[in-house]
Amino acid sequence: MPVIPPPNPLPPELAAIRDTVTRLFESRIMGEIGGYEARRTFPRPLIRAMGEAGLFGAAFPEKLGGTDLGFMAVAVISEEISRLRPDLGYCMNLQAMTCPFTILNWGTDEQAARFVPPLIGGERIGAFMLTEPGGGSDPAGAMKARAVRDGDTYRISGSKQWITFAHEADTAVLFAKTDPSAGHRGITAFVIEPRSAPGYRADPIAMRNLSPVLSSCAVFFDEFAVPAANRLGAEGEGFRIAMNALEFGRLTVSARLVGAAQGCLDHAAAYARERVVGGQAIGRYQMVQALIADMAAEIAAARALVRELAETMDAGAPANRIASLAKYFASRAAKTAVANATEIFGGYALADEYPISMFKGFIEMLNVGEGSSNVQRVLIAEDALGYKDANRASLPARKFRPRAAAE
Ligand SMILES: Cc1cc2nc3c(=O)[nH]c(=O)nc-3n(C[C@H](O)[C@H](O)[C@H](O)COP(=O)(O)OP(=O)(O)OC[C@H]3O[C@@H](n4cnc5c(N)ncnc54)[C@H](O)[C@@H]3O)c2cc1C
Repeated sequence: MPVIPPPNPLPPELAAIRDTVTRLFESRIMGEIGGYEARRTFPRPLIRAMGEAGLFGAAFPEKLGGTDLGFMAVAVISEEISRLRPDLGYCMNLQAMTCPFTILNWGTDEQAARFVPPLIGGERIGAFMLTEPGGGSDPAGAMKARAVRDGDTYRISGSKQWITFAHEADTAVLFAKTDPSAGHRGITAFVIEPRSAPGYRADPIAMRNLSPVLSSCAVFFDEFAVPAANRLGAEGEGFRIAMNALEFGRLTVSARLVGAAQGCLDHAAAYARERVVGGQAIGRYQMVQALIADMAAEIAAARALVRELAETMDAGAPANRIASLAKYFASRAAKTAVANATEIFGGYALADEYPISMFKGFIEMLNVGEGSSNVQRVLIAEDALGYKDANRASLPARKFRPRAAAE
């Protein structure tokens, strides 16, 4: 439990889900993850345990193995995981949102029935393959990966960059151009099964301060074959699908930022109470208190925005505007939290004994994921100036309404 109780309390059903996460992590995951890191092996059994505990299924119907609880539960689970282990927060994007949810939202019933249950059950590892080396902020302009139709198959060639879990992925959503002359209207989405398939290679990118096992990769396709039956949506619909996936992904990323920020606050508050300098705990010094107060206030405000985003999604209303506001502000709150925690820990912020530098790495990473802070600011400002309605292309969930909303 947080050292400082969050000022935005949860209703009992959601508090119970958060407690399920806390129990699983404290009783098993926190104790075992270090062993995987030491052996440099991917923690499949831990991801399976998270799936079995129902952590990935909140935005999926029961008939696909989900829990039907809705997006607020997704936010609560994402936050609690990232408060404890920000690296495992990745799973909420890849096992619970951008990969399986995009398949549910845009795939046929057959595609959803085949691919979704093993992803949200944690049996198969998911990935989302949009970004290319030419720049993630303009995915349509940068996209060079090609998909060429050849009878009942598409052949994919090209490369992707920063693809999390690509070295272990069993199932992935991939975007490639079927018509390079048609700009963003020439992009098509596919479900692929890349692991050990010919024409596929994924090389983990070395990143100091991030997890040694939960890697992001450079990915190369060489005439990689995808059955035409695995196309998601129509040819040319891929850009719309990608933007919609990122809108839903902003919920998990924002909640993960709030969780990582709360983790910084928990550790900083505990340290400030214990660390005695000049005859008293440093938490008694007003300047240290100012740092703590700024962290707590910004985290509470960011959490309120994330909950408004989840409520909007649960209501089936357009969410792009609030998604940008939540993601941008959660990123700011998390940057404040890690900067202030670093200040409070003094030299010990750098010691591996404390997790502050690990939190810093993930907060920086989450700042760019699902649209960088600058990209969110462009969307927010153009909306506020009346140039472009941020919700103009927002598409609520097409095939999922939480049980509570349907009652
Ligand atoms: C650890 C990690 C994991 C990731 N996992 C995945 C994944 O699983 N799948 C996936 O598809 N992608 C993934 N990404 C990619 C991520 O989405 C991109 O890094 C992000 O979109 C930014 O792209 P970029 O890094 O190429 O930066 P660039 O697009 O090169 O941008 C660089 C800087 O320029 C700014 N900028 C760019 N355009 C504008 C503009 N128009 N106005 C103002 N400023 C601008 C940006 O805000 C940024 O500050 C991951 C990235 C990281 C670091």
